[in-house]
Amino acid sequence: MPENTLVNRLLSAHLQDLEPYQSARRLISGGQDWLNANESPYANEYVLDCSSLNRYPDCQPKALVDAYAQYAGVTREQVLVSRGADEAIELLVRAFCTPGRDKILICPPTYGMYAISAKTFNVGVEAAPLRDDFSLDLDAIRSYRGQVNLVFLCSPNNPTGTLLAKEQVQAVLEGFADNALVVLDEAYIEFADENYWADQLNRYPNLVILRTLSKAFGLAGIRCGFALAAPEVIAALLKVIAPYPVPQPVAQIALQALTPQGLQRTAAQVNSLKQLRQQLSQALLRWPQLTLVGGTSGNFLLLRCTDSQALMTYLVERGILLRDQSKQHNLQHCLRISIGDEAQNQRLLTALDRFFAEQA
Ligand SMILES: *Cc1c(COP(=O)(O)O)cnc(C)c1O
Repeated sequence: MPENTLVNRLLSAHLQDLEPYQSARRLISGGQDWLNANESPYANEYVLDCSSLNRYPDCQPKALVDAYAQYAGVTREQVLVSRGADEAIELLVRAFCTPGRDKILICPPTYGMYAISAKTFNVGVEAAPLRDDFSLDLDAIRSYRGQVNLVFLCSPNNPTGTLLAKEQVQAVLEGFADNALVVLDEAYIEFADENYWADQLNRYPNLVILRTLSKAFGLAGIRCGFALAAPEVIAALLKVIAPYPVPQPVAQIALQALTPQGLQRTAAQVNSLKQLRQQLSQALLRWPQLTLVGGTSGNFLLLRCTDSQALMTYLVERGILLRDQSKQHNLQHCLRISIGDEAQNQRLLTALDRFFAEQA
């Protein structure tokens, strides 16, 4: 029983048992090698013009909407700018689900914020777990037709690093064509070998794509994400968004990231990270105690180690932070490693060497 304090008595009933999202920053601070939040290891330089910070920003800064539309190959009417993809998830729940009545569908193991956003608004969460190879269980998903308003898919999926097959996503879009929006979270799309769905927006009025500048663009600190969808969906999201969601400095920095030079720099950094990902996944094979789980389509790897708890503790003591995924469906003893820069990856390998040597 919670203590009988004023706050506990007033707290919304549906929040009494809710655990807040355990973001990497909430869990552990300190350490030198943050390999636990899938951030970019590269910090880039930007310039800020502070001459009109006395003014409120545009709700949807036009230049930024246009720049992202061009980058994604969609029209400006198909773009919404939000405070990170996380805010877009929340806006979708608020715009399309009636509290206490409607539900969303998730496919675990996957990103935790879909369920948490739903629960904070008293919206139900159904789960159709991924199959053992992390593909979609289409029969299970279809069995929720008519029972859910939003279906959340994540590709490349966090934390499994797997890309969903086109045919599977298409089957979900078609199966829910007249009864749910299908939200395809593409936070890691720049690290994948194919980028197919943005071009299909005109074909699927129930498709919503989520994007972010937090991962490939190295801008987790500015909180800037996007929803790409039919203009009617964007208009519905604009009903629930805050009046001034995108701070002016955020728009300025995001615009610089989306200039031709900015895009070139991001492409080069994504290339480096893909090479480092390849090197790290090769290097990890040397320990029979470790197995790579899932795919390598994101800027992270997932590995299984019988002694994952001990390993996690050992690494934390040495300032190296990974993300424990062992409580997720089908991911017992799994840890997720964000790809760091060369020095960080090397420090990780050295620490692993010592850990397994000490265990032997
Ligand atoms: C990191 C992440 C997000 C959140 O992105 P922000 O733009 O930083 O809010 C959304 N979805 C997935 C799958 C992620 O891994």
